Order: sequence, then C-alpha cells, then structure tokens
Amino acid sequence: MNSKSMVKDLFVRDFDEKLHAKATQIAINDGITLASLVADAVDIWIKNHEKNRHRHNLILYDNEASLSRLLDEIDKLASGNWFKSSCGSTKHYGMQYLNKKRWFDATAGNYDKLLENPQETGSKVLEIIGNKVGNTFPLTVAFLVEDLAREESVKKAVRFCEWYERKSLPGITYCIANTRNVISGSFDDLFDLFNVHNAVFLTKGNKLYKLRLDEERFYSLLI
Ligand SMILES: [Zn+2]
Repeated sequence: MNSKSMVKDLFVRDFDEKLHAKATQIAINDGITLASLVADAVDIWIKNHEKNRHRHNLILYDNEASLSRLLDEIDKLASGNWFKSSCGSTKHYGMQYLNKKRWFDATAGNYDKLLENPQETGSKVLEIIGNKVGNTFPLTVAFLVEDLAREESVKKAVRFCEWYERKSLPGITYCIANTRNVISGSFDDLFDLFNVHNAVFLTKGNKLYKLRLDEERFYSLLI
C-alpha cells in the first residue's frame, strides 16, 4: 500500500472565520498549507494525549499457558514506540518469559527490598524507569501483586496499588497475578484490589475477559 492511498480528508465544520483567516495568513507567511498546519496540531495533540495517558489494570490468569499467551499478545501489540519493562522476581515464570523477549527488568537486584518495603523501593524503581523511558511510552508488567498476596497479604498488595494509583503516572501498567494467590484474601480485600485498578481482566486459555463491577440496586435482580 502506498502512503498516498492512506491519506484521509478531514472536514472541519463551523471553523471560526477569524481563526481561519489568521491561521491561513500564518500558513502563507510560513510557506506551508493550512492542511499541514492542522495535521501538525492534531499530531501534537495525539502525542500529548499519549504522554499523559495513565492506565493501571489488573489481569488474573489461571496457569502458565494462559500467562504465556497473554504476554505474547501484549508484546506483539506493543511493537512500536514503547518502553517495555517488567517488575518481579527473576524466578517468576512471567519474568523469565519477558526476559527472553528482551524486556527491561526494572527491579533487577532490588526485588527482595521491594517486597519488604514496596513504597520506598517502588519510588526508586519508578525513577529507574523514568530515566530510561526517553521519548517512548512506558508499558510495565508487574508481578508484585501476586508475590505480595502470596508471601504477605492481599491487603498489602492493595496498599501498594493504592499508593501507585495516587501517583497517576503516564503509561500503561499491568499488575498480573495468578488467581489462586489473590483469592486467598478476604472478600473485602479482593473487592478493594479490584477497585484500586482502572479495569480488571481475566485470561483463560486463549481468551481475555473484562470483569465489570457496576453497582446496582437490588430491584435490578428482578427486571
Ligand atoms: Zn496494581
């Protein structure tokens, strides 16, 4: 496909007359077309939007086969301008899998400290990622929730994710955990863990499901 066939026309309805005249004059003075000026503005807007986008999602998996499939898909989809990093124990199957795909291990040498003191060491890990990211967009896969839930408690995992969510950093972060470990906590802790993330997904076999938590009135049970 040549690039010409990919060009789309953009029709701007109700474009302010004065703004149009001013933009046209600037475009003429700069020896460019008004269309290229609009394309530039849209490009800057998209870049700013991407830079500020924050997503912190939880994905629960059932076994290593589902996890491999999930990581393969994430890796394949994020093939462009992404800085791909992982957080977890070097012994974790998922970390070893991403390591083979050359993801950057942001917790290398610090992971035990991170489990002991998630917030303090977490700040250092975020700094390491921040120093590496450059002009790319950060994509982080973290297995911390799983380890905190198994070795400490689901409550401690919730506290860490609350702390991380308050930072609202740009980038996409996936907390990926084995379902077995997070259902070991109380119902309240599990509910809090779901609530502290922007979205919750379950992966089983080759499929991905989005879990919805919508508060409903009881009468909706009978309609
Ligand atoms: Zn999280």
